[in-house]
Amino acid sequence: RPRALSGIQPTAGSFHLGNYLGAIRQYVALQETHDAFYMVVDLHAITVPQDPAELRANTRLAAAQLLAAGLDPARCTLFIQSHVPEHAQLGWVMNCLTGFGEASRMTQFKDKSARHGSDRTTVGLFTYPILQVADILLYQANSVPVGEDQRQHVELTRDLADRFNGRFGQTFTVPAPHIVKETGKIYDLQDPTIKMSKSASTPKGLISLLDEPKVSAKKIKSAVTDTATVIRYAPEEKPGVSNLLTIYSTLTGTSVGELEQKYEGKGYGALKTDLAEVMVEWVTPFRSRTQEYLDDPETLDSILAKGAEKARAVAAETLAQAYDKIGFLPAK
Ligand code: ATP
Ligand code: MG
Repeated sequence: RPRALSGIQPTAGSFHLGNYLGAIRQYVALQETHDAFYMVVDLHAITVPQDPAELRANTRLAAAQLLAAGLDPARCTLFIQSHVPEHAQLGWVMNCLTGFGEASRMTQFKDKSARHGSDRTTVGLFTYPILQVADILLYQANSVPVGEDQRQHVELTRDLADRFNGRFGQTFTVPAPHIVKETGKIYDLQDPTIKMSKSASTPKGLISLLDEPKVSAKKIKSAVTDTATVIRYAPEEKPGVSNLLTIYSTLTGTSVGELEQKYEGKGYGALKTDLAEVMVEWVTPFRSRTQEYLDDPETLDSILAKGAEKARAVAAETLAQAYDKIGFLPAK
């Protein structure tokens, strides 16, 4: 079986609709065809300040949401990044292979550091794409399910895998991004020209999956659309409506073409009312499944302990190979 690897940050507590449609849905699908490793990336979370108690609670909450969304511990390996120390260890090696200029070209860093200001931008935020390289290469992943915003980081991973293999001999599998065209970038409901984001969206622009369902319904109903009335998928011209059609289509399995027909001659109000209902029907069971995992922390922790053990076996083997190739003297 080919390998898949991906990670998600525990930063905001609740995942948002972009996380689910862009990434987590693909995690669920790839469990069936891949030897899949998924992790809650707490090391990445501390690139910006985190309250310790909140970070701990949000890490459990993230794992509970992944299970609620359909990850099955019998079909995939689910773990917490900091439980596998090899991530930080190979991360250092990758730091030493990356050019400063090369790292400076990462657009996520430019966006995020611009938002934080230079005094509040940590060196960790600068090097986090390089830690991500290590995350992926440790598992010899073939496929990396992510949203469009992560494409550049997977490209960097490919470059560094090639560089290491070229310099030291074949060691790492060169991975490919797995980005679904339709849902790779879900847009902010209030500003449909920017991506829905944990850190950049306003509350009204973001569907948090754990919000009260009626709050999410209200946000859908007040989503920004254009002043015309025709319901048509045209991302350039009509980004707001097109985003709603993508969300509707993906959550219900109805094609965008069928939706355009269904709403022919009807206004945006009808589309929004129906999508709000679809949203409520999706988030309601998701919330209760998440709560069930949170109510049973022993089961949750034991899933994560088993996951870490499986992940470590793979990661340790890869790290040992890399250390050997580099020329580190083995510890006796
Ligand atoms: P932040 O803004 O702090 O980076 P985020 O909203 O991007 O947070 P992450 O935990 O960084 O959330 O991303 C988890 C996964 O969700 C990644 O694979 C990312 O590409 C994907 N993703 C995030 N936002 C979207 C979106 N709007 N549309 C599609 N995929 C998304
Ligand atoms: Mg992100």
